[in-house]
Amino acid sequence: MSRSFMPEVKTEEELKALQLDGLKWTVRHAYTNSPFYRKRLEAAGVVPESIKSLDDLKRLPFTTASDLQEGYPFPLRAVDDEEIVRIHASTGTTGKRKILCYTKKDIDDWANMFARCYEMAGVTRRDRVQIAVGYGLWTAGVGFQLGCERFGAMAVPVGPANRDMHCELMVDLQTTVFCCTASMGLLMAEEIHNRNLRDRIAVKKVIFGAERHSAAMRRKIEEYFGIEESFDIPGLTELYGPGTGLDCEKHEGVHYWADYYILEIINPETLEPLPPGETGEMVVTTLRKEGAPLIRYRTRDLTYLHPEPCSCGSVLPMHGPLLGRTDDMFIIRGVNIYPAQIDRILSQEPGVESEYQVILNRKEGKDYMTIRAERAKTANPSEDEAITARLENVIRHKLLVRGRVELVDYASLPRTSRKTRRVFDERNNG
Ligand code: ZN
Repeated sequence: MSRSFMPEVKTEEELKALQLDGLKWTVRHAYTNSPFYRKRLEAAGVVPESIKSLDDLKRLPFTTASDLQEGYPFPLRAVDDEEIVRIHASTGTTGKRKILCYTKKDIDDWANMFARCYEMAGVTRRDRVQIAVGYGLWTAGVGFQLGCERFGAMAVPVGPANRDMHCELMVDLQTTVFCCTASMGLLMAEEIHNRNLRDRIAVKKVIFGAERHSAAMRRKIEEYFGIEESFDIPGLTELYGPGTGLDCEKHEGVHYWADYYILEIINPETLEPLPPGETGEMVVTTLRKEGAPLIRYRTRDLTYLHPEPCSCGSVLPMHGPLLGRTDDMFIIRGVNIYPAQIDRILSQEPGVESEYQVILNRKEGKDYMTIRAERAKTANPSEDEAITARLENVIRHKLLVRGRVELVDYASLPRTSRKTRRVFDERNNG
């Protein structure tokens, strides 16, 4: 008899009751044991007894990435040293690395959450899971490993090693599940394609760990691996690590583990909560985390809550794909726009490549947006007019703001291996 890692609660009411208990516990735990949180909560006029319903969440102060940096190296810590059994750190793309501490129970909860990912993806205990993400200080490798062992499948812990080794093990062990970042998935897909391995491997599912990728990239990986489906695992070191959600076999959205944390979507400008369907910043509050609990932690990731439950019947709600970071968002004529929306529009137009720049400027008090895109390698400049007209039309309908499209030669926009700057706001340059 195999154990299930799905939530014990079956209805929305039961889930809400469990969330309220968890919220009360978290506020009391943080208030009692973390000097940082006590100060914050006191300043907001909140004592543990003030939490009476889930609505009281709105009264709690936000926590941000800079709070974690200020408390370095043990930010948000709410337990004694002897309770901490492990630390992990995030790469810290902006500023100092973030270190988070875990108690034995935190590690245990994380393993159960991650085991749920494998279960929801339809993995069985007979599967062989080849893990190609990084091990060490980062949460990725150890998270995939921990969840796999807890679930009971066979873990093949390779890490992001060389492709020769991955191909060899994939063929020899007849690996059935491959776990990787989307970029690694693409590299491996091309490798399998180039070495003509498709008929010699047995991979049925690819699980991606926490890296934004386009639908086109995912399709290519599925095609080259010769698989029917792939899954996406979101993850954030502050919130345990990867494994806090997964898109199920219906692929209608990303289920998130609402019995372990509450997810709010807020307007990053006004900080007001947004209704389902509206895109904003993801804010998380943990319900059982001991070492470094999170209270309304602003992740800076943009997504939206699904207004409807999934057709799979799960009680676990869903959020949309991650659409980028709040830092990348810009506002034009009162409309919030983020680069992922432009990515998506351009990826549906065969006449252009994926590289682009957005230039914002102001003339006579009015804001203008120009999108500079590369003409596709195969497109003829004589088609420019038709392509720009098509794109301008889609932009007006999808983004609800007008934008001018300008085509430039293929491969003429700058490319870097690091994060490429794409938005140029020239509105305050006189
Ligand atoms: Zn579902």
